[in-house]
Amino acid sequence: MKSTQTNPAQNGNQKQGNLIAEKAKSGAAQGLRDLFLDELQDIYWAEKELTVAIPKMIKNATADELVKALTEHLEVTKEQVMRLEVVFAAIGEKAETKKCEAMEGLLKEAEKIMQETEIGMVRDAGIILAGQKVEHYEIATYGTLCAFAKTLREDNAAALLQVTLDEEKDADEMLSDIAESFINFQAVGTEEEDTEVDDTGTIVSTNAKRKQFKSL
Ligand code: FE
Ligand code: FE
Ligand code: ZN
Ligand code: FE
Repeated sequence: MKSTQTNPAQNGNQKQGNLIAEKAKSGAAQGLRDLFLDELQDIYWAEKELTVAIPKMIKNATADELVKALTEHLEVTKEQVMRLEVVFAAIGEKAETKKCEAMEGLLKEAEKIMQETEIGMVRDAGIILAGQKVEHYEIATYGTLCAFAKTLREDNAAALLQVTLDEEKDADEMLSDIAESFINFQAVGTEEEDTEVDDTGTIVSTNAKRKQFKSL
């Protein structure tokens, strides 16, 4: 389905949309609809950009679980791009992109982090950080878009946007889980170096005590 094609159904919807706008006493309904469309175009640009950015993160990631999570979310993101095209069709609009300055900034930061960190655990941690910033931006956007769609009585669009919102929340949680396992890993690494044990086998150093606590 090419987004550049126009069809009679679309023109019909546009006409209908214009009629509704005319009927509205204030411009608020049309204003909200314009904002909704604007923000849809913004996130459509952002999702498309992410299908290019996530593969770069995958190449830079080393931990298996992080590579796996990013690879999964890349496939989900490709589906989200297509789902947005269905949303545009559902509201009778052409699928068009509009550059998202915020996502561009977040992705620039991600690139910088990957350039400035050593490959391995630190860069992995940086990728998780950058990835979670992206997911939080998406959660904020889709949450609002969902609410706008409901207000505008665009129920099909609202349902589709809710699916994507849930996927972004899942991705965020997945990254949080990986981040947690990283912290544990690092703590264990530190403890092994600093472990002190006395004659009776009792752990005496602070780090080692933490290890003992953790193993409970
Ligand atoms: Fe997304
Ligand atoms: Fe935005
Ligand atoms: Zn944006
Ligand atoms: Fe996402």
